[in-house]
Amino acid sequence: MHTETERNRLITIAKRFSEKQWMLGTSGNLSLKLQADPFEMLITASGPDKGQLQAEHILRVGLGAEVLETSAYKSSAETLLHEAIYKAFPSVSAVFHVHTLAATLLSTQQDTHSLTFSGLEMLKGLGQNTHECQVNVPILPNTQDIKSLANVLASQLLASTPGFILAGHGLYAWGESVEAATRHIEIFEFLFQLRLAELSLHAEVSIATGRACVRK
Ligand SMILES: [Zn+2]
Repeated sequence: MHTETERNRLITIAKRFSEKQWMLGTSGNLSLKLQADPFEMLITASGPDKGQLQAEHILRVGLGAEVLETSAYKSSAETLLHEAIYKAFPSVSAVFHVHTLAATLLSTQQDTHSLTFSGLEMLKGLGQNTHECQVNVPILPNTQDIKSLANVLASQLLASTPGFILAGHGLYAWGESVEAATRHIEIFEFLFQLRLAELSLHAEVSIATGRACVRK
């Protein structure tokens, strides 16, 4: 199968996300589905700097994270989560995973199983028809037992939200095209940064109010 174009697409996106500091320290992984039956996808290899990927760093992988070509590189354990997402949503053709500061911070500071956003124009970028909607982003507990998580992942996801956060770890997002998955990662990250800014603003207001009370 000729996959040079697809490999280059993943390399370009990895570079773009790396420049935004979303794939630091070789973290994260990006995949796109080549075919559903038998299942095959391309996914970034574990190890190389995501900002400097070459074609050899993009692996052709089948069911169970089996690498389908001779390679010096391995696919990451998280490859099984990509596969689980493609299985859960057959129309999805790209799955992206990044370790962003905002997703990591929000998922560890808030004692909640999801982040909720409403009334924002940017929510339309996640497939909503209007800003007058509510989007819940699931936060799942992080684990090193990726195989077990992959087995139950489908039951934890929302058909209406193309993404989730692994607590203290990072963001997964997907789409029916590479462009849609890219857009979803960027929109989620905007929402998370917005939430951090809101929390910071509220903290400043409460400190200022506290000072005002003391002055009285
Ligand atoms: Zn990760």
